[in-house]
Amino acid sequence: MEARAKIPPGLPRPNPTVSYWQDPPSEIADLRSTQDLPRSADYAIISSGISGAFVAYNILQRTSQARVVLLEARQACSGATGRNGGHTKAASYRSFVDHEKHYGLDEGVKIARMEFANIRATHAFAARHNIDCDSTPCDTVDIIYDRGHLESGRKAIEHMQQTMGSDDPAAEYKVYSAKEATAMFLTPGALGAFQYPAGSINSYKFTIGVLRLCLQQGLNLQTNTPALSITPSTSHIQPSWTIQTARGEIATPNLILATNGYTPHLLAQTQGLIVPLRGQITAQRPGSKLPPAGLPTTYSFIYENGYEYMIPRPPGTAHAGDIVIGGGLGRLPNDGASEFGETDDAAVHPALSEYLTDCTAGYFGENWGEDDADGRVRREWSGIMGSSADGLPYVGPVPGEPGLWMNASFNGHGMVLCLKCAEALVGRMLGGEIERRELEGWFPRTLWMSEERTKRKFVGRLNQKAPGEAEFGEREEEGRNGWNREC
Ligand SMILES: Cc1cc2nc3c(=O)[nH]c(=O)nc-3n(C[C@H](O)[C@H](O)[C@H](O)COP(=O)(O)OP(=O)(O)OC[C@H]3O[C@@H](n4cnc5c(N)ncnc54)[C@H](O)[C@@H]3O)c2cc1C
Repeated sequence: MEARAKIPPGLPRPNPTVSYWQDPPSEIADLRSTQDLPRSADYAIISSGISGAFVAYNILQRTSQARVVLLEARQACSGATGRNGGHTKAASYRSFVDHEKHYGLDEGVKIARMEFANIRATHAFAARHNIDCDSTPCDTVDIIYDRGHLESGRKAIEHMQQTMGSDDPAAEYKVYSAKEATAMFLTPGALGAFQYPAGSINSYKFTIGVLRLCLQQGLNLQTNTPALSITPSTSHIQPSWTIQTARGEIATPNLILATNGYTPHLLAQTQGLIVPLRGQITAQRPGSKLPPAGLPTTYSFIYENGYEYMIPRPPGTAHAGDIVIGGGLGRLPNDGASEFGETDDAAVHPALSEYLTDCTAGYFGENWGEDDADGRVRREWSGIMGSSADGLPYVGPVPGEPGLWMNASFNGHGMVLCLKCAEALVGRMLGGEIERRELEGWFPRTLWMSEERTKRKFVGRLNQKAPGEAEFGEREEEGRNGWNREC
């Protein structure tokens, strides 16, 4: 894992696989708001994923006169956000015990509450702004196939409800026996299940919607313009940064990197701290015996050393009833170690293609029925996540680099964190003393970038212990892994 963490990510690759969500592409996919790059900007953001879009949105909400430029290497929203599972699901019980152990109970509670608030806020934002993105708040179920996970999960849920209060919506869970889980969720072989509030969304369309709101407020969007490098100015009077691109340079006093797994290309000190991780996913036509109205909840299937995550396409949407399912890393040799450090989202892993294609009929067994006459798989694609050394994103000013900010490395959990992290980042950048104090009340301090966090060693999934050996998320003291920050 150490060797894989050292692989430089480079720039996003040309001609990536086209995700289910990006077909057809938005009409702003190749937008350049101005023919030439502006020479300077008050704020420059690198990335048009959900993080970059919400950073731009928050800045423009506060300072509508500000000149805000957003650079994107490929098409708009062509990174992880445009190619993910669209699962707005926190699964906070899987990390709560670990967060409490390492950061204290208050912080564990803050993280769980923020994750829940982020999910709610995402769906509410889509509704408030009328963004056509199939936003569907609904319950999710974790179908458990492993005794260790079942026990750890039960204990973690009980502990959350005792410490946070069973009326806390972030601690709302229902626990089902094997018999109940099999009957209710059509999953023979389940040992049990946990059900809780979550949702699904077309995060490509959602983020394009956020970018559109920003464009209406004056955002200058420059797609197909990779930032090749960034350099600080040598002036001591006012810090500033210059972004080098093939189309010229942009100078700015405020540079925000929302570059997820690619961040080390621009910021060498994050090499080995943020590690790209390639994920793979498929969209499948439902089997004939699945409910004609579609499955009412989203799913995760949790087994000894990994999981799959799945959303059914909600009624009334294109291809309603389709099953979007990804994961499978735990089925590869070495728990998928080969996918760490891998940034080739122009390709898919053949073993994962085979596994993901087969697993749906496997999970639903006789409840799947016959495959559609046009075949099971409608589309498959891959995408690049940013894995962090401690499983949490890095938010805030970059230590020792005045004028440079980051909001990056959201693991498989961006739909659960990005909106609130962008709000906090911009609050810290532009807010006054009162706002900063408010931020301390709700934003988990452990997510701020710090010198201390830069010292943690990346260990990836290889640090994962066998079930029963440890509680959820138990990690080595030195290095922390991000496996439980799931989609
Ligand atoms: C297959 C897959 C499935 C997933 N499923 C889920 C899920 O169901 N639920 C969930 O919560 N999370 C999921 N995730 C994770 C989630 O998608 C990410 O955490 C989230 O999208 C991160 O958003 P972001 O804006 O930080 O990064 P991204 O969306 O990756 O955006 C980063 C952008 O920066 C651009 N960029 C990078 N370097 C440069 C440069 N030098 N110059 C210019 N532009 C640059 C990239 O092109 C990219 O568009 C999944 C991820 C993948 C890959």
